Amino acid sequence: KMSNCIFCKIINKEIPGKIIYDDDVCIAFLDLSQATYGHTLVIPKKHFENILEVDAQTLAHVMQVTQKLAKQIVEKLNAKGLNILTNTNEVAGQTVHHFHVHILPRYDEKELVIEFNDHSQDVDLDEVYQKIVK
Ligand code: 5GP
Ligand code: ZN
Repeated sequence: KMSNCIFCKIINKEIPGKIIYDDDVCIAFLDLSQATYGHTLVIPKKHFENILEVDAQTLAHVMQVTQKLAKQIVEKLNAKGLNILTNTNEVAGQTVHHFHVHILPRYDEKELVIEFNDHSQDVDLDEVYQKIVK
């Protein structure tokens, strides 16, 4: 239990949250920002900093719940698709250091920008491959 963690406080009901799912291992609740309509966070009840720290069994459960809720949210809110993402460390935009998976229902192509720039001209794929697998 991390006394100073905002998500632990939501789990412990010390601060309110719109909790849409609750089981022994994880909860899901509406993200305050609502980056897209229905934006939801799925988090383990046990505090882990990020996806690199969480144990494999908890992660598997969190992802199963994420898929179940993704289906439910898309159906109930009539979304056309969704993005699922998890930010890891400040460099990647993580602001709350309690592992969480974002479910971002999508209704149109412009409401959310996740830009993948093309660096294929500058990167030697064989070099990257060798670095990762060696
Ligand atoms: P991150 O940037 O760390 O991946 O995402 C953290 C998310 O937590 C943000 O989308 C932010 O809106 C959400 N958030 C931060 N504080 C609270 C809170 O007190 N309640 C809820 N429901 N969401 C929060
Ligand atoms: Zn926490």
